[in-house]
Amino acid sequence: MNGITHDYMEEYLRGLIPENEGILRELENFAKENNVPIVQKETAKFLEFMVSMKKPKKILELGTAIGYSSILMYLASGCEPHITTIERDESMISVAEQNILNYNFSDNIKIIQGDCLEVLEKLQEEYDLIFMDAGKGHYNHFLPHCLRLLKEDGIIIADNVLFRGMVASNDLVKRRKITIVKRMRSYLEMVSGDNSLITSVIPMGDGIAVTKRR
Ligand code: SAH
Ligand code: MG
Repeated sequence: MNGITHDYMEEYLRGLIPENEGILRELENFAKENNVPIVQKETAKFLEFMVSMKKPKKILELGTAIGYSSILMYLASGCEPHITTIERDESMISVAEQNILNYNFSDNIKIIQGDCLEVLEKLQEEYDLIFMDAGKGHYNHFLPHCLRLLKEDGIIIADNVLFRGMVASNDLVKRRKITIVKRMRSYLEMVSGDNSLITSVIPMGDGIAVTKRR
């Protein structure tokens, strides 16, 4: 049990997904060897699905890490989207930049260095898709900015919203994580309770919430 799905279910669902080859495989191997937390396999597939359906021209990502999910979304879209991705950790940024350069994505994937909230406050452009995957304890603070930056028919995909099940059950909450958990609950209540929005929370991976305007 990862606090969200049973092990047998996770293993089965992952087993259905073929191994990637090429760029994504290389990045997955790097992430594994260096303990970089990239999107889980089934979450990656969901993201690919959403991007290939939505065909976003402009994507905003919170949390670049080594650039894996940015590159995955780029490849899945098939329409050469422009991706802006925010990361605060300099060592991650240097790996991501190298990857983006090596694989020739520099024209389409731009990293902004900084804290998501500070960067969000300054951004002015609108995006077709926003992928939230950094700063779990601040999704509730990111939301107003993400809604301001979201095109009329845009989608927000938020990862890790169930945070190992802790968000759904106090019995699972680790004392040190209580603030993150409370704020994540607040995020889910905001996106679920707001009548101008429509949200679906999916207990897959570490929990995914998909939000759009009604
Ligand atoms: N989306 C990536 C994984 C991101 S992991 C992928 O699936 O490939 C989360 C990243 O967010 C980490 O690299 C961490 O350094 C960064 N991060 C966490 N909090 C942040 C914040 N408040 N502002 C900017 N980056 C943050
Ligand atoms: Mg994540």
